[in-house]
Amino acid sequence: MKRSARAIIDTAALRHNLARCRDAAPNSLAMAVIKANAYGHNMLKTAESLSNANGFAVSCLQEAVELRQARFIHPILVLQGFSNLQGMKAAAEHRFRVVLHDLSQLELLDSAPSSVKLDVALKLDTGMHRLGFPVEQAPHLFERLSKHHNVKPTPWLMTHMACADELDNPKTSQQLESFAKYTTGLQAPRSVGNSASILGWPQTHVNWVRPGIMLYGSSPFVNGDAKRDGLQAVMTLVAPLISIHTIPKGESIGYGASWTCPEDTRTGVVAIGYADGYPRHAPTGTPVWVNGKQTRILGRVSMDMIVIDLTAIEARVGDQVELWGKNLSVDRVAQAAGTISYELLCNAGNLCKHEYL
Ligand code: PLP
Repeated sequence: MKRSARAIIDTAALRHNLARCRDAAPNSLAMAVIKANAYGHNMLKTAESLSNANGFAVSCLQEAVELRQARFIHPILVLQGFSNLQGMKAAAEHRFRVVLHDLSQLELLDSAPSSVKLDVALKLDTGMHRLGFPVEQAPHLFERLSKHHNVKPTPWLMTHMACADELDNPKTSQQLESFAKYTTGLQAPRSVGNSASILGWPQTHVNWVRPGIMLYGSSPFVNGDAKRDGLQAVMTLVAPLISIHTIPKGESIGYGASWTCPEDTRTGVVAIGYADGYPRHAPTGTPVWVNGKQTRILGRVSMDMIVIDLTAIEARVGDQVELWGKNLSVDRVAQAAGTISYELLCNAGNLCKHEYL
């Protein structure tokens, strides 16, 4: 049985944000990144809302199989690829495009039965140093894959940007230069850009873009502003007020008695805590929204409850408090809590019940 916190998902906002991606990168096809249960928004419902995307990207084969079983016929890119023969066969059978990023996968390909024909995307490491072959190997690997009897014609070329969220960071241009240096002349579709690249780096707008966080209405930039980026919030996280008190001046609030009332303070207890994915490390002052006004949390976040400041706010038990969403950007909450919106959306989105508008 789910608890009282709810994540309300605005599917029209999802579609708006995809349209924003297309405005920003009009000559690229959009592969909507719906990994990790669509960043907590529910993968299948999100895929349904974004069914006019040109394709979907997921982390792993399990997610990809779930999409195919739900009858999505779109191109599906599996970002972690496969790690054994069984996975490789499943990818071929379901017509997934798998990211090839490691020598062990090439060895599996070499040993596969000739009936296996795989769509692959060759992942090139241009400086992120997470997944991928050193970009200098691109010409050699591309030739090898192009001739491979287990690979369907035309492997894609792909890379990922490490610092596109910082518009003054030279690393993105360096990564793009080395990608161009070693792939120019190779006849293949390319895919480079994530959300920050789509909105901030037009040079990354090659055949396919891979929007993730922007689809969910959060700014991909450090200290960004989603409204300024033309994005609409998708998830509004709400929970009810379950108790209201006035705490006398000099008394402290919550575990560790970390915040002391400087004067008599009207407080409300909201039924959400870290068990619902609200960040435990959110400090006193982290914003929340109640009945048309912004206020703040007081003291430490508990497992199932937070305490908020109701000074000068008309509120009654049962009123809904917005933790983030339409009135309070998830980016602001993430900044206050010293984390990123991705983490907040994934955690709360995967723990709270969903409602769809
Ligand atoms: N491409 C790859 C390879 C990714 O790992 C991710 C997400 O982490 C994305 C694209 C989407 O990134 P963002 O959510 O920043 O748009």
